[in-house]
Amino acid sequence: MKKFAVIGNPIKHSLSPLIHSEFAQQSSIDLTYEKILADDEITFISTIQNLINQGYAGVNVTLPFKGYAAKISTTKTSEVDLTGSANTLSFDHNAIAAHTTDGIGLVNDLLEKIGTLSSSSILLLGAGGAANGVIPSLLNEEISHLYLWNRTIQKSFDMANHWHKSYENISVMENVDFKKIDIVINATSAGIDNTASSPISLNDSHKEIICYDMMYGRQTPFLKSASDNNLAFFDGLGMLVKQAAASFEIWHEQKVESKSIEESLRSTLI
Ligand code: NDP
Repeated sequence: MKKFAVIGNPIKHSLSPLIHSEFAQQSSIDLTYEKILADDEITFISTIQNLINQGYAGVNVTLPFKGYAAKISTTKTSEVDLTGSANTLSFDHNAIAAHTTDGIGLVNDLLEKIGTLSSSSILLLGAGGAANGVIPSLLNEEISHLYLWNRTIQKSFDMANHWHKSYENISVMENVDFKKIDIVINATSAGIDNTASSPISLNDSHKEIICYDMMYGRQTPFLKSASDNNLAFFDGLGMLVKQAAASFEIWHEQKVESKSIEESLRSTLI
């Protein structure tokens, strides 16, 4: 039986074991999948080595170790190279192959929910790992423009400089102009804390805008603002399930159906 795990800190609330065991059942694959807490970078690296020694086939990596996962890999996809982040590692003896599936998880979820991204103009809020990690996948969808905004705006300018080496149609939108935007994606963590307000106000938005928050399992201030303004909105649960589906496909070379899992998780999370 193949062995897998997800490593992070914190890890207690991870839904990945549940999602992967549902996929395994769907595909009639026997596997184990557990949660592992690592204290810090050193423990993370020693845990990976122990898992390789114990014959594990691969791991998912979550916060705050995605950058370290990219660094310790022996081979990586171009997307891992570009984003400096990996959430899926496959082990073959001592070789570690790194993939990142967050971007494809987000894009597949957006495609399922709104149809196409082609020619859309997107405003991406945030400048952390999640925002940077999804940029190549968004830009591969032939969107018309990607605008960046962050509370600490200098980070958006740094981010735009970094991504300009690979893509032209990215710029900073310091003062939000909704007329130029079709979709707003919230990749900030302004929602973990119930007292936070929405990173941007949606009160002046036009009614066709689509709002997407990468966070799930709670009504964030951003999604509440979208709801209060009668805008279309989605949370990040579909992204979570679809990034897991992409990991599963990498490890087992089998496609899985994710919609029913998203629906059953949603009913347990509410
Ligand atoms: P980071 O800690 O790397 O970045 C946090 C970002 O949020 C920064 O841009 C920060 O801005 C901003 N921020 C924090 N608090 C506020 C606030 N009160 N108002 C405005 N901006 C704020 O986090 P990640 O990028 O790793 O994760 C971001 C979110 O994405 C998390 O909620 C995470 O759960 C979610 N996520 C969901 C996934 C899914 O599968 N659905 C996958 C990955 C992430 P500043 O620079 O100014 O501090």
